[in-house]
Amino acid sequence: MSHSLVLRAFCALLLSSLPSLSATASRDERPNVLLIVVDDLGYNDVGFQGGRDIPTPHLDRLAASGVRCTSGYVSYPVCSPSRAGFITGRYQQRFGHEFNPRWNPASQIDGLPLTEKTIADVLRGAGYATAAIGKWHLGAHPQFHPNRRGFDEFYGFLGGGHRFLPGSHVDVEVGAGKKMETHADAEHASPMLRNGTEEPEPPELTTKLGEEAAASIARHASRSKPWFLYLSFNAPHTPLQARADMLKKFAHIADERRRTYAAMMATVDEAVGRTLGALDATGQRSRTLVFFFSDNGGPMTKRNANASNNGVLRGQKGDVFEGGIRVPFLVSWPDRLPAGRTYDAPVISLDVLPTALAAAGAKRDPELPPLDGVNLIPFLTGENKTVPHERLYWRMDYGAAFAVREGKWKWFRTYENLAQLYDLDADPGEKTDLATRHPDVATRLATAAADWNRGLAAPVWVNNPFGGFINLPGPSAKPAAP
Ligand code: CA
Repeated sequence: MSHSLVLRAFCALLLSSLPSLSATASRDERPNVLLIVVDDLGYNDVGFQGGRDIPTPHLDRLAASGVRCTSGYVSYPVCSPSRAGFITGRYQQRFGHEFNPRWNPASQIDGLPLTEKTIADVLRGAGYATAAIGKWHLGAHPQFHPNRRGFDEFYGFLGGGHRFLPGSHVDVEVGAGKKMETHADAEHASPMLRNGTEEPEPPELTTKLGEEAAASIARHASRSKPWFLYLSFNAPHTPLQARADMLKKFAHIADERRRTYAAMMATVDEAVGRTLGALDATGQRSRTLVFFFSDNGGPMTKRNANASNNGVLRGQKGDVFEGGIRVPFLVSWPDRLPAGRTYDAPVISLDVLPTALAAAGAKRDPELPPLDGVNLIPFLTGENKTVPHERLYWRMDYGAAFAVREGKWKWFRTYENLAQLYDLDADPGEKTDLATRHPDVATRLATAAADWNRGLAAPVWVNNPFGGFINLPGPSAKPAAP
């Protein structure tokens, strides 16, 4: 190359690099945060968990891009308390959110207590654009609306579930082998909202939520500020309804309910694919921290049973057995985390908020009550070789049941007063009770549950989702000891 050509090439390089240099200087380098939650998914019902009859290529790709947590938990085995936990980073019994809210848009009681700050409040305070898409289930009164709980933008519905096909009646499962009620349920037919404005129902809800997520990601791709998106699918929760073309793909599944569930989960996978595709297309994938999990385990035989499969795990939604609280759990952040790894130490959905805050370099007001979750990043990178949590705890229905996980040990006391101990490393299906062989461990964990229980509050409202299945103490009653 001649001298003048070199000079010209250098000038061209300098000129072409100027705009990008200035763009770099003004670009906010903090990662985006995408929290994807599904509803009542069975532990075995995605490819990355070993499921075979429902292909989930997009979720499997997400798993391959990051870390799969094999002992990933939620903080409650039903919808709304689980959501109150991860959206605040605190055990929800600390602030009385221990039951699903009763569907009553006039109630100023049934919703995430206003004393609590959400992950969206904190990230918005740190300069993030925030959006929620899909199921809310943290209160239907206007004071609980997502726009009042830290989210700049909301598209979705306020209740605990929604029909997927417009105008359809909703089948309410009352239990396997029992009669199925069919009626138009007000909660499942509540309006679709864009912020405060009602919109017509889309042709199929899960498909629409994926389209909305992709559009939101494209809209915020300019990087004037990083964003937080909470994408909350109500699938594969009942009602069992799916697009005709998806049902056709699963025509080989003889059981109609399993076939419909499979079609619903395949639609979720397609919507996740559309969402991840928007990240790829706008060049944001590697700098986006993505979480994926289910809000609780699959309901296999109880009310709202959806033909899910929890694989080797014992029990289901509503239980303190592993099938109620242990869920498919992914964390992916290509810029920082290894790809294609598994992580076996117990983690919990309460870790989402502190992990996102640390990734964003954001600080929470030190006056706020302490978080129960921890920043997972140093554990998932392998930098910190200890475990994120000495113990994890569960309390159901104001002390009707308890559970504790400590390392490989899991102790619980069920509604029926069954107190048992399991070694989950050797026995993930909770088959061999070791309480009499290791009474010291059982006592230690029961004592730890009692200590933890003393820091919890009475429920703000009481609502038995299983219709008379247990005797609930009133909010003024003292909680039962573990
Ligand atoms: Ca749920």
